[in-house]
Amino acid sequence: LRRGIERNELVLHFQPIVDSSDGSLRVLEALVRWQHPTLGLLLPAEFVGVAEECGLIGPLGDWVLVTACRQIAVWSKAGLPIVPVAVNLSGHQFRDAGLARRIESILAETGLTPRSLELEITESVVMFDVERALVTLHALHDLGIALSVDDFGTGYSSLAYLKRFPVSRLKIDRAFVNDAPTNADDQSIVRAILSLAINLSLEVVAEGVETEAQHTLLQGLGCDLEQGFLFSQPLPADQLAEQWLGAPRRKGARQGD
Ligand code: C2E
Ligand code: MG
Ligand code: MG
Repeated sequence: LRRGIERNELVLHFQPIVDSSDGSLRVLEALVRWQHPTLGLLLPAEFVGVAEECGLIGPLGDWVLVTACRQIAVWSKAGLPIVPVAVNLSGHQFRDAGLARRIESILAETGLTPRSLELEITESVVMFDVERALVTLHALHDLGIALSVDDFGTGYSSLAYLKRFPVSRLKIDRAFVNDAPTNADDQSIVRAILSLAINLSLEVVAEGVETEAQHTLLQGLGCDLEQGFLFSQPLPADQLAEQWLGAPRRKGARQGD
């Protein structure tokens, strides 16, 4: 992995998060992959845990932040619409006292406004040490960066704290979205998260939307945003730009490139 990072084998894919009402693009989530020379394209589940264990999550997380920001700058220079990109933060990055300063300097280097970058932090990471999380979340929020709580519903949330967190969105984990149309318990959980979010003035993203039945249900329940294979797989930057940002088709590009 260390060599892979040095040899520039990491790549970012981008998955649209769309408005439930009309399917229009609202945010892109950056998802890291490792283009391994012999093993092929590896998903984060296969190497992010390893990176955390062997101290490489710092460089990996930093690479993701810098690369996501550079990509937005490239699209913007090409005259494409600017869509905010959401980056996933690891617990290690979130607990690093220099995080807000580092992000500020990446934004300055790439000439972006804080509105172009968003951050996703999993429920378990924010709830691990709430008092400290509050300080970090406020520092990021003060920079003007929108924050989401990822995988909501899978961890253990103090709802009293949730109220005090300067976050703008909850992402309902796909475990609940998956069976919501057919399983009454899962549907109750989705409804409960939506009503909690409305009362706290938070937006909700449903993760892992794969079927029309899920989409119709979520739309009917008033879920603001959706993300999932029904709308798009995570895509390499060029393909994403062609399919979602109106970039001209590359010469010689084949379907599935
Ligand atoms: P996540 O942040 O919850 O990201 C959503 C995951 O759900 C992605 O998996 C995405 O490909 C997958 N997904 C999206 N729509 C669907 C769908 O309709 N059906 C199904 N079955 N899956 C869907 P991916 O890319 O494998 O990433 C897994 C996790 O790895 C992410 O979960 C995130 O926690 C972590 N991760 C990804 N990129 C990074 C990164 O740059 N840094 C860190 N620290 N973690 C990352
Ligand atoms: Mg995420
Ligand atoms: Mg998630």
